[in-house]
Amino acid sequence: MVVDASRTTFEPAPLAVLHRRYGAGAPAVVELIRRTGGCTSPIRLEGESVAFSAGSGAVLARRSTRSDAPGFVLVACGNRRESRCPPCSERYRRDAYFLVAAGLAGDEAKGVSTDVASHPLVFATFTAPSFGAVHRRVVDGTGVRRCRLGGPSETCEHGASLRCPERHAQDDPLIGQALCPDCYDYEAAALWNANLGALWRRTITYLPRELAALGGLSVAALRSQVRVAYAKVAEFQARGSVHIHAVIRLDGPDGPDTAPAGGATAQRLAEAVARTAARVAVTVAGPGGRELIIRWGSQMDTRLIKADGDAGDGHGVGVAGYLAKYATKDAQAGGGLDRRIRVEGVIERSKISDHARALMRSAWALSPRWAHSLGFRGHFLTKARRYSVTFAALRAVRADYRAQADPWLAQIRARATGDQIVIRRSFHYAGSGLSPAERAVAVSFRTNATSPSPSARIGSAGSRPNLGMPVSAPLHWSRHRSVP
Ligand SMILES: [Zn+2]
Ligand SMILES: [Zn+2]
Ligand SMILES: [Zn+2]
Repeated sequence: MVVDASRTTFEPAPLAVLHRRYGAGAPAVVELIRRTGGCTSPIRLEGESVAFSAGSGAVLARRSTRSDAPGFVLVACGNRRESRCPPCSERYRRDAYFLVAAGLAGDEAKGVSTDVASHPLVFATFTAPSFGAVHRRVVDGTGVRRCRLGGPSETCEHGASLRCPERHAQDDPLIGQALCPDCYDYEAAALWNANLGALWRRTITYLPRELAALGGLSVAALRSQVRVAYAKVAEFQARGSVHIHAVIRLDGPDGPDTAPAGGATAQRLAEAVARTAARVAVTVAGPGGRELIIRWGSQMDTRLIKADGDAGDGHGVGVAGYLAKYATKDAQAGGGLDRRIRVEGVIERSKISDHARALMRSAWALSPRWAHSLGFRGHFLTKARRYSVTFAALRAVRADYRAQADPWLAQIRARATGDQIVIRRSFHYAGSGLSPAERAVAVSFRTNATSPSPSARIGSAGSRPNLGMPVSAPLHWSRHRSVP
């Protein structure tokens, strides 16, 4: 393996450490780290790849970590979270951007018709209802408003003041904290986060009914003319409740390739979304037999998406970039933690706000599995099957791109012209993470994140190729892949 040292700049000290540890294999380690894009906690695998002729079954070539320096390969961790692995998160953000943008503008190369751009498209934000008064920062035309000037009574039944004359700064840790923790309904807030998925499913199920009612059609007639497609992300608010940002699109009865009929317009879609959000509810049973009706908050926002993919109103942020950014966040944005808690005592020991701690205790009582995310059950970015491409399809494109750039495969292809080649890979887990010297090398390979343009393609500059094995694969596996 040859490393082009001129393309990188890093301190010589870590390289000296790598030379001491790996000897002649040190350049290969540097190359492996480069191919992970600077992943902070790559997985080490050992094993071999064997190339066969599909026709005769003859072994054409073999490469093994047993004989090739440095004796292992590295696979990027692939973690979505910005807080866990910045380079892998950046790759995920680009995929998320592409996936959302393809549903807005289409991408013929990836099998999404560009006709979708002319379909009714709405960008909608669904919020959580109030669970009690919290400190807030509201900015209007005159600047930052005072937090809370109080209602009819100045104090609650616990004697806490319901007034806060502050104009909170953007980074004020008070924002999102309850004015009175005894008044705040933490149990309901945790239940709401936990049942958000059910509320969303019901919203999407009921949307066609409102569309039908607005168009003067029966639901059956509407379903024969229109299909709903969407992509959505979950965003934690400072108070620890999740809101949903969604792109909602209407297609024809046969999906993205067909135009919706029946007078479906973006305006009507926006109205139907708002009506549905005001009406849907899910009744759930909380701890102690408490029954709670889960519904959306009244702060509903729907905007028509313009042809350039921007929902406008002075935000100046493309919808796809907006959704992609939130797809890499986690519960930390709402005061929670970015990884699962296994022992209840962690809740008391963690450096989180008292507000988040109270919410986390309620979430733990519902399900310890989701306490760290304040009850929310994951799935930050989800989409309807027909919305656009899948993450798996985008990763497959990248794997093909890497295969094209693999000199070992190129050599076999050149030798076996006209013969179909099958590669069998069998690798096992041999560890994970980087030593301090390896980490220093990884940092030097990181690219600076910038928003890709709507025309950006996977595999373009900045998304560096890594090794071709999915992290979600079992620890021992073998797979066959035809080489294009
Ligand atoms: Zn990583
Ligand atoms: Zn305040
Ligand atoms: Zn109170």
